[in-house]
Amino acid sequence: NREASVVSVANRKSRELYERACEVMPGGVTANIKYFEPHPIMMEKGKGSKLYDVDGKEYIDFLLSYGALIHGHGYEPVMQAVYNQMTNQGTTIFGTPHFLEIKMAEKLIDLYPGIEMVRYTNSGLEATILAVRAGMAYTGKEKIAKFEGHYHGGSNQFLVSVNPDLDKIGSQNEPRSIPESTGIPDYFVENTVILPFNDLAATDQILRKHAKELSAVILEPVQGGFIPADEEFIKGLRKITEELDILLIFDEVKTGFRTSLGGCQEVYGVKPDLTALGKVLGGGFPVGAVGGRKDVMMISAPNGGRDILSAGNKDKGKDVLFHSGTYNGHPTVLAAGLATIEALENGQTIDQLFERTRFLRNQLEAVYKRQGIDMQTIGMGSIFNLVLTNEDVKNYRDLQKANMTLRKMIDKELLQKGIYTKPLNRYSMSTVHTDEDIAKTVELHEDALKNLRR
Ligand code: PLP
Repeated sequence: NREASVVSVANRKSRELYERACEVMPGGVTANIKYFEPHPIMMEKGKGSKLYDVDGKEYIDFLLSYGALIHGHGYEPVMQAVYNQMTNQGTTIFGTPHFLEIKMAEKLIDLYPGIEMVRYTNSGLEATILAVRAGMAYTGKEKIAKFEGHYHGGSNQFLVSVNPDLDKIGSQNEPRSIPESTGIPDYFVENTVILPFNDLAATDQILRKHAKELSAVILEPVQGGFIPADEEFIKGLRKITEELDILLIFDEVKTGFRTSLGGCQEVYGVKPDLTALGKVLGGGFPVGAVGGRKDVMMISAPNGGRDILSAGNKDKGKDVLFHSGTYNGHPTVLAAGLATIEALENGQTIDQLFERTRFLRNQLEAVYKRQGIDMQTIGMGSIFNLVLTNEDVKNYRDLQKANMTLRKMIDKELLQKGIYTKPLNRYSMSTVHTDEDIAKTVELHEDALKNLRR
């Protein structure tokens, strides 16, 4: 088996460690997504745009911890901010309210058009969970709608129709809700309405049909971080949800700071009611945040907030939305996040990053064309994917037309040659990828395609 031997011969220590891992962790991994055949590669070190595995091999990293590391590995201002925070403040965490929570919230309110108030969580998933709970509390309705193929983290509500089998999904006008995992109670499958991305007419029809029960629509404005919503579609969706009293939640966990400093809401000029953030926000540490309209966010104020506090500390009991967490607003994490964002705020840095990403995309497209392989890069800002079809790709169903088998083979060749992406995963760029990295990436793609020909 060419694929198996290609990865395991040059990665002997990785394989040995993986065998050990299998004894103590199901499938040898601690997140299903981190597994790939024949076995994942164990990393030991990171520096700038590079990862180094336990066999001493160097990789140009385009996974960047699923997009979290916008400045690559060990970025000095972030490392320094973390060190300073812990040493100057004398602790890793206060366990109480503190100044950086306010400073970061002010920054997010400044940058994101749809954010008027903020709450922190420890992951993107916790943020999406909190956002939909707030939506249900605010509207008093119990269902949510999500788009086919969109990922919002691994909770029951969202683990439907993320990567469903084509033979089960029904028509595009009425996509079926399909569980992604065993152990998901029917309740969640039945109460999550599935919508077709970038199909405004069908989305409109489905939303009208369920409007009385729908609290919120949640979406990735750029599906999977690389298939952008059509402008007309996302503007239309905003209009319909407003008309039907359904909250609109942008899940910007992937796109926040990566499509523009103010996320997709800034790019499209569309204001969601609530926004979920994560990844880049934590500078490589676990983080999430929900931001949004003040009247919706205020549901979680334990005493009704400052206005009610000044009138007397009224206990609102169960009227208050529960939101808590030992590590919420972790000061070390917020210090890393603030240093990350501040480094991007010099507009040139983010513009340069986008320009370089565009340059890499163009170069890769030229290579595939030379080698006679149908491929288009699709993406926005600093994220893109290589999609092996020339057909229009606007949603989950279109994406299935791409040649995934060939893409997986290319990705495995590239792993062997020193480019790190999890097979089939999107590419995330960082501000520290060099001209040399870009040239080498293009060259290695060309070599990989030639090798596969032989
Ligand atoms: N939402 C989106 C769009 C994501 O891409 C992810 C993670 O990849 C999540 C939510 C969940 O975030 P986390 O993995 O931090 O829980």
